[in-house]
Amino acid sequence: MEQSSLAAGTAQANGPAATPLEILRGTFGYTEFRGQQQAIVEHVTAGGDAVVLMPTGGGKSLCYQIPALARPGCGIVISPLIALMQDQVAALRQNGVAAASLDSGQGAATARSVLAALHAGELDLLYMSPERLFAPGMLERLEGIDLALFAIDEAHCVSQWGHDFRPEYGQLAVLAERFPQVPRLALTATADGPTRQEIRERLRLEQARAFVSSFDRPNIRYRIAQADGGRGGQPRDRLLRFIRDEHPDEAGIVYCLSRKKVEAVAEWLAEQGVTALPYHAGLPAATRAENQTRFLREEGVVMVATIAFGMGIDKPNVRFVAHLNLPKSIEGYYQETGRAGRDGLPADAWMVYGLQDVSTLRQMLEGSQAGEERQRIERQKLEAMLGFCEITSCRRQALLAYFDEHMPEPCGTCDNCSEPPETHDATVAVQKLLSCIYRTGERFGAGHVIDVLRGSKSERLVRLGHDRLSTFGIGTELDKAQWRGVVRQLLARGLLRMDAEGYGGLKLDPSCRAVLRGEEPIHLRVEAARPARPAKPSRRDTASSVAAMDTEDRALWETLRGLRTELAREQGVPPYVIFSDATLLEMVASAPRTLDEMAGVSGVGAHKLERYGEAFIRAIEGHFGI
Ligand SMILES: [Zn+2]
Repeated sequence: MEQSSLAAGTAQANGPAATPLEILRGTFGYTEFRGQQQAIVEHVTAGGDAVVLMPTGGGKSLCYQIPALARPGCGIVISPLIALMQDQVAALRQNGVAAASLDSGQGAATARSVLAALHAGELDLLYMSPERLFAPGMLERLEGIDLALFAIDEAHCVSQWGHDFRPEYGQLAVLAERFPQVPRLALTATADGPTRQEIRERLRLEQARAFVSSFDRPNIRYRIAQADGGRGGQPRDRLLRFIRDEHPDEAGIVYCLSRKKVEAVAEWLAEQGVTALPYHAGLPAATRAENQTRFLREEGVVMVATIAFGMGIDKPNVRFVAHLNLPKSIEGYYQETGRAGRDGLPADAWMVYGLQDVSTLRQMLEGSQAGEERQRIERQKLEAMLGFCEITSCRRQALLAYFDEHMPEPCGTCDNCSEPPETHDATVAVQKLLSCIYRTGERFGAGHVIDVLRGSKSERLVRLGHDRLSTFGIGTELDKAQWRGVVRQLLARGLLRMDAEGYGGLKLDPSCRAVLRGEEPIHLRVEAARPARPAKPSRRDTASSVAAMDTEDRALWETLRGLRTELAREQGVPPYVIFSDATLLEMVASAPRTLDEMAGVSGVGAHKLERYGEAFIRAIEGHFGI
């Protein structure tokens, strides 16, 4: 196995004098840093601590891998999932980096050889779970070793409120005391404001420099349709049409709420000729592992799954994520759809949801063992998710606004941008709502504000004197459900805010002033279900996607993809660690015929050039009959 052969790489292959840029080019085969990578790499290489918030696909791993190579000693990476560690180690070894992992999936002999290599100073990077780090004797062992850095990946696992909470992450604060001279970085792709604060406090990184990247995923196209009364047919038929028209033979994930539905959909898709596999926590462990491996190692597998599947799945060429049910929160939606297009190539986030989902999720919530406060927070997250589905403006803008990020222009590619839904001018209703929230002191929830608007004389309302407000009874033209729809849509647009404590109190956002003053008309979605349109046939804006290729290029693409799969199978690694889709696409476009030309392809580092360059050049020559 790849895991046990440590000879694959050489420690400090680039020599201690290699600069971060030399490592980026020589080892990883990229010409330029992306986004904030360079600033982060330089800061950490110089010995600084960092908190890094970067979306999936933003090149997060290089932020600690390059400093670990540029600094003397071994870099320790704390990661919560074995699959994730093994993938990263396999990918690093392909680039000639001496990387290894300590995980519960390996035998004692392998673990011993990894530790021996660590003590001998032969490792550049060592991945381990927090449980391994806190196993007896491990910290003492590390104290005797030259360490380049500590990288704490998936740092949001430290948050007690997140669904990925891992108790051991809380103990990582001890690294600050025991290794004060070793730089530490915490990295995550999912962190709202409160979670960011928790990461700083609980990991003792209060003084660390923060690097916050945009959470936008420009290559993902967002589409959401309603199942209720839709004319596009049954959701599963629409899914099949979407897969056949836009992603034939491509990898994707289909999320369903229940295990039963997962199995039914997977079976039905398979009957229709799609390579679809089920995944949920109720399947035997062996079946789950086998299906996951097939998804990672084969091309074009569609995984039908509950949300039990996905965390730590680092497959870069997932071309679509489809939801057949409403996710529980916008965070969940962002995280799940974020598994599409990690390689930066065009990808789809596609959803069909029905009002049935909302009641099912509500019932699950009520029936859960969670405490009252927790339930209230979850309820609000669900409402925000629903609001996000209902908006008529740009989905990307709304998604980013939810993470406190302002995007000045609509994206132009989401469904609402490219096929604007029917709306009506709701400016007057919105003004009534906003001024009623203002008049009641910006501390009441939607229920109370709507009661005031509709002129309901509840005992509490009268006691508060709210029946004497100028906004009392001015909103009888809408019923309660319609008003709630208005509230949700305003929340989703960031014109209203909900109190951070989770009591549901509504506050005005400064951005709503223009609406209040009547300077900015506001249009809301027409409440009646919009007839759901069938997905348009494949239309791609970028020439770099497979769907846009002509027959000739497509044939070369298949040839190169076949070679990649063959090489991967020989070594027992996933195909994308040999070369990414983006690298193969560049080879299709530039058809390199010499090693020099091949070296110019992004993602072809020195080690991969030596190992695979000839084989891929031969395949390209064979294709052109040279
Ligand atoms: Zn848009």
